[in-house]
Amino acid sequence: LLADDGGVAVTIFAEMSAFAARTGAINLGQGFPDVDGPEYIKQAAIRAIEEGRNQYAPGDGVPELRLAIADHQKRHYGLDVDPDTEVLVTTGATEALTASVLALTRAGDEVLTLEPYYDSHAAAIGMSGATHVTAPLLPGPDGFRLDVDALRAAASPRLRMILLNSPHNPTGAVLTRDELAAVAAVAKERDAIVVTDEVYERLTFGAEHIPIATLPGMAERTLTISSSGKTFSFTGWKVGWLHGPAELVTAVRAVKQFLTYTSGAPFQPAIAQALADDDTPRALAASLTGRRDLLCEGLEAAGFTVTRPAGTYFVMADSSALLGRLGLRDGVELSRRLPELAGVVAIPASAFCRAGSPTAAALAGHLRFTFVKREEVLREAVGRLAGLR
Ligand code: PMP
Ligand code: GLN
Repeated sequence: LLADDGGVAVTIFAEMSAFAARTGAINLGQGFPDVDGPEYIKQAAIRAIEEGRNQYAPGDGVPELRLAIADHQKRHYGLDVDPDTEVLVTTGATEALTASVLALTRAGDEVLTLEPYYDSHAAAIGMSGATHVTAPLLPGPDGFRLDVDALRAAASPRLRMILLNSPHNPTGAVLTRDELAAVAAVAKERDAIVVTDEVYERLTFGAEHIPIATLPGMAERTLTISSSGKTFSFTGWKVGWLHGPAELVTAVRAVKQFLTYTSGAPFQPAIAQALADDDTPRALAASLTGRRDLLCEGLEAAGFTVTRPAGTYFVMADSSALLGRLGLRDGVELSRRLPELAGVVAIPASAFCRAGSPTAAALAGHLRFTFVKREEVLREAVGRLAGLR
């Protein structure tokens, strides 16, 4: 089933991390930080364990976390969210995404994503039996931008859901207000639900993150998803959430009951505390800006053409100018050979595209590298990559 879209029976991230471990290469494939989040957040989880919060949490999530999520959305975006009826805590954004797609779509529906897309978006659509349609996000002078005409053309009367992602993995694009307005117009015209994956909401480098739920008339048809993994550097805790109209949240909750029932109890009060902290994500975004520049400059020096990302952990780098001299056909071949050629692992763009699609062809030379690694690791990687030239 999952192999129909992209050929992934094992996720590309697990595959590439295993590849890095096997070859001893620096893993710039899977995006996770090599430095944990703040000590006080760890201590809050330890305290919760010691205080006995070790049995099933409420199915919706613990009240203080739901409240903290609602406060966060009000404080940052002016969104009014009812913590009792409009929030659901999930086991990472991954569960929120999959449960939303399973709850709200079925065979015969069409679900539109950007392409390239985060792998679990396609897998969730595959599991629901809905049909996956895409609109390309391709590199130009202003970074990766949405092809608005292609978006409109891809939206048929059977469109049930638009599965959006901004800041965008793998391209690092942060959708502009105009792009979001185009998405909103299509959703309204086709009476589609928008499910928006905003896990990198706090990790932008000067660009403004605009939740599509803040656009006129969109809150009533939008489920907004985020996760503490990226914002606070605790990807292994798997505390995510979604919020939106009570009716949609109720439908997703019904599915969540049979996926995980409830999510990890002691991590939730710790993340509730963290969500009041705006300094930690701000400092992370600032330090990521420097690390992004370090990696981008290194990739350029090694002969890649780089589209500098406005957010996320990731940069897309085009190897087309290098391939001929290396005697390689495309980014997939380069990603297979990269550990041996340069002692680095990266992920080919094709892992985020439909097999044989025009977007896959347009991005055939591209690889995704993560820069959420310590500066000394990135310096070592850049030094190794320089040998490609
Ligand atoms: N969406 C995107 C765009 C991601 O990059 C990731 C991976 N971090 C996820 C969702 C999954 O998040 P979580 O670990 O909270 O399930
Ligand atoms: N989101 C991370 C990435 O894109 C990894 C998550 C995963 O391994 N599923 O690399």
